[in-house]
Amino acid sequence: MAPHNNNDRAAWLQGPSARCSAVPEPTQTPWRIVLLGAPGVGKGTQAELLNLRLGACHLSTGDVFRAAKGRDACELSPAMKAALEYMRRGDLVPDATVWDMVRERSGCLRCGGGFLLDGFPRTLAQAESLKLLMGEEGLPLTAVVNYELPVNAIVARLSGRRTCETCKAVFHATERPPKTAGICDRCGGKLFQREDDRPESVSIRLAAYDRSTAPLIAFYKNLGLLLPVAATGSPEDICARTLSALTAWRIRTSSPALDSAPARPNL
Ligand code: AMP
Repeated sequence: MAPHNNNDRAAWLQGPSARCSAVPEPTQTPWRIVLLGAPGVGKGTQAELLNLRLGACHLSTGDVFRAAKGRDACELSPAMKAALEYMRRGDLVPDATVWDMVRERSGCLRCGGGFLLDGFPRTLAQAESLKLLMGEEGLPLTAVVNYELPVNAIVARLSGRRTCETCKAVFHATERPPKTAGICDRCGGKLFQREDDRPESVSIRLAAYDRSTAPLIAFYKNLGLLLPVAATGSPEDICARTLSALTAWRIRTSSPALDSAPARPNL
């Protein structure tokens, strides 16, 4: 688990015609991980920290939509324009639009450095599509990390979250404040509150999570892939907890004799 340089994720954020400035080094056993958990639980922050330790690329579907938001309206397809409207309200974007977008970027799923999927899949239909694609490509998922946090803590995290306009680093007004209010510690960019972190959107997002995404916990548990991790404490604490859970998980699942659980099917 050597530290690894981050890359700009150009092929993921802009689409397959774009080239990443640095591609993660291929490894024999890439980490192919799905990060699950309610909005605000800290999946994006963990993905960034885990990327530095595991080398696997941070693939966030929310980031693809946010990148599209910054583009000229005439460059966007009608499906993408509609998607951004769903996102602004805090609603889930329709499965077909999300899946078209992910399938178009399936090269990122084949990347030899592995991946950390953040915010995808978010519905059973998306999880089934991913399972089918990974099965066809012969790329088994390593694990599905499910970050657990009580609802009141989730609401507090979402409402205090601030994101850097330039480098997308995430801060929190009280839990992880920047050194200078409103300014990013990392690049000096301006911090802003995401439109969908406003109270009216937060309740819609949490309802969408309960309705559509929470059932994925049982889905992945049945596949023997679910790895629950408590999302309490500082981002560094949670990352350390995740890394030790993943290390133990890999040892256990690559030595089935040590594990009393049924053998994990290939996904
Ligand atoms: P996130 O940054 O993951 O919280 O995503 C921000 C918003 O993008 C969500 O509230 C949805 O509107 C949309 N979105 C991102 N990923 C998905 C997905 N897998 N399925 C449906 N909508 C998504």
